[in-house]
Amino acid sequence: MAERLFGRFGGRGQRTSAKSFPVTLGEEEWRRRLSAAQYHVLREHGTERAGSSPLDKQYGAGVYLCAGCGQPLFASDTKFNSGTGWPSFWAPLDGAVGTETDRSFFMTRTEVHCGRCGGHLGHVFDDGPAPSGERYCMNGASLDFQPGEKPSENVSGDTEPKS
Ligand code: FE
Repeated sequence: MAERLFGRFGGRGQRTSAKSFPVTLGEEEWRRRLSAAQYHVLREHGTERAGSSPLDKQYGAGVYLCAGCGQPLFASDTKFNSGTGWPSFWAPLDGAVGTETDRSFFMTRTEVHCGRCGGHLGHVFDDGPAPSGERYCMNGASLDFQPGEKPSENVSGDTEPKS
């Protein structure tokens, strides 16, 4: 019973998106779990200052996880230096992210969010490098880097090139 009440109260103030996600927490729980910078990006659609994330300069082998829920989102072999000051990738892991049209700030952009918790990650643009031509411009605050192997096959069924 109490959980039900908390769930309802926690649901207030959420954005109007009709989408539902496997991981759904109330605003207070997100605030407890996340740093102020993470909360601003993931839950308030914030954008970090360019060049402020150490992940912008991170090019080691590994996987980038959602800082909100831990879902693997990007593999290091799709990361490239876009020169923008934000961590950039030419493709997400299969099924890891969702997109939505974002018309804020007098622009029409494609917003990118975690497919598991709905946390805002950044935007995707069509001026990226081969092979996809896409540029996933991500906020480092929305990501956690896990050094080591590329993601396991239960995340992405695709075979990835060995380098
Ligand atoms: Fe997430």
